[in-house]
Amino acid sequence: LEEGARACLLRFRQRLEQDIKPSYLMDHMISDGVMTGDEEERIRTQDQAAALLELLLGKGNCAYISFYNALIREAYDDLANLLHADLPQVLSDAHKSSSDGSTSYVQAVLSEGGVPQRPVVFVSRPELVNQIREKLYHLQKESGWVTIFGMAGSGKSVLAAEAVRNHGLIEECFPGGIHWLSIGQLEKPDLLVKIQSLCFRLEQSLDSQSFHRTPNSLDEAKERLRFLMLRRYPRSLLILDDIWDSTVLKVFDIQCRILLTTRNRSLTDSVSGAKHEVEVESGLDDKKGLEILALYTNTKPQGLPEEARSIVRECKGSPLVVSLIGALLKEKPNRWRYYLIQLQQKQFKRIRKSSSYDYDALDQAMAASIEVLPEEHQELYKDLTVLEKDVKIPAKVLSILWDLELEDVEDILEEFANKSLLFVDSHSKPYLYYLHDLQLDFLVEQNRTQLEHFYRDGPPTSGDEECFYWIRFLTYHMAKANLSKELYSLMFSLDWVSIKAQIMGPAPLINDYVEYGPILDEEVSRQNFTEFLSLNGHQLEQRPFPDVVQLALSQPYASEVYRQALQQAQERASTG
Ligand code: ADP
Repeated sequence: LEEGARACLLRFRQRLEQDIKPSYLMDHMISDGVMTGDEEERIRTQDQAAALLELLLGKGNCAYISFYNALIREAYDDLANLLHADLPQVLSDAHKSSSDGSTSYVQAVLSEGGVPQRPVVFVSRPELVNQIREKLYHLQKESGWVTIFGMAGSGKSVLAAEAVRNHGLIEECFPGGIHWLSIGQLEKPDLLVKIQSLCFRLEQSLDSQSFHRTPNSLDEAKERLRFLMLRRYPRSLLILDDIWDSTVLKVFDIQCRILLTTRNRSLTDSVSGAKHEVEVESGLDDKKGLEILALYTNTKPQGLPEEARSIVRECKGSPLVVSLIGALLKEKPNRWRYYLIQLQQKQFKRIRKSSSYDYDALDQAMAASIEVLPEEHQELYKDLTVLEKDVKIPAKVLSILWDLELEDVEDILEEFANKSLLFVDSHSKPYLYYLHDLQLDFLVEQNRTQLEHFYRDGPPTSGDEECFYWIRFLTYHMAKANLSKELYSLMFSLDWVSIKAQIMGPAPLINDYVEYGPILDEEVSRQNFTEFLSLNGHQLEQRPFPDVVQLALSQPYASEVYRQALQQAQERASTG
């Protein structure tokens, strides 16, 4: 730590110890990577404020800057003020570049603006980062918006910070600096406080002696920010992390350059200016996922236990979930199998991240996404529980299920898709809709009690009815909507047979083949499936429900049922 900074900490030690609430500050410092979870644990067991300051005195300049930024973000403006004069200058060897275009100039600009550092465990995602940079270059000559859009925990914030960690980009496009603001779900008064402290931070950095009244309303804050961004910080980038609401965005509609992360695609519809978008669609591939686990557990990827690959698969490439498990394994390195089983049983709730993430676990993040839907849409969304994994359906099917006009259904589905709650396959006409595996798991998990209830008490009599409506009537609706192609792939899928048989027994399935067979025009498969059901009818009524793939493997080799079962068995064998 630089001498000046050290002296400053010592001088104001007492005041700082009295006033700060360390736990929030530590969250920021951990996410900046200047403090470890272990250090946090240790501090928690002592007089926290004193212990934190002691730790800071033993750390470097980055920790001091991070602590300063944390004070600003937690609205301790007066305390930050005390530390400001002695902020270390990290500009000296500014042009010593590391391989990724990050220099100490870059680091100084980013920490000055409160951009979080890389997570302690970090893997690169060059394609996405380049896409974002490419869009940011559009903001070189004119103001506008770049939106990073994707599911909860898909790594949007990390990508946003990574994209600006580049000397050339900052120099060419944003010489005025990069300013980070974490937004999240908040009410208007909190938003005002955030903008107040942003304005304060911007004014502080100007070294001007002029004193400005704190803006007291959102309108006033907007004007103040407009002035600062246009006059004092031209050609700078404002990063708004995790925006939920377009009313929040409107406050920033001031003709400046903005990069934002969100789960809600259509947010920028309501603001003016040029708009660009990058979608974080796919998760991490297996290799990257394993790399994260290897880094957490301090092993080489090839030295990971056999459960590692299955864990990555269960996490469906979600950086958040893989990291959650990685962090747990770091603490308890002999629990690979245990956590794999927890994941398989979808006990996400037990898997908590130590700190610095707004949501305890992915399911809370998903629940939050659903909660912001209008109430009647929440109910409709829950109906999607009975969608099948990897089955894509057109709006028409839902219009029958929900008993709504097709146009209304399309609007609702668009809303879900824009909030990252649903995926659209727009390559086909009409569009097809489907859920991400994690979302489906989440919904099924949420509605599990309903399912169990049904198994125990027989057919439901009241509200539960709706939940099973789908499985019961999907074929009927599809036939009625003349979706014979979709009906075909549904009815001749072993997975569907297994789901429907598990909930309703084999009889309604056989009935389906009799009833809709003529539309399907595929005599052989129809016979194969009907035979399988009649031969195994007794077993399919047993509870616990038997392994359908096992049963199907005893069908004749030429049967379509056997073919699918074999394929699944092979997949199971290869994934362990
Ligand atoms: P989002 O903003 O999409 O909700 P974040 O960017 O906050 O997601 O990422 C969530 C968590 O996932 C991070 O806290 C980190 O643990 C992990 N993570 C995200 N991206 C990466 C990455 N590239 N390498 C390692 N871990 C990552």
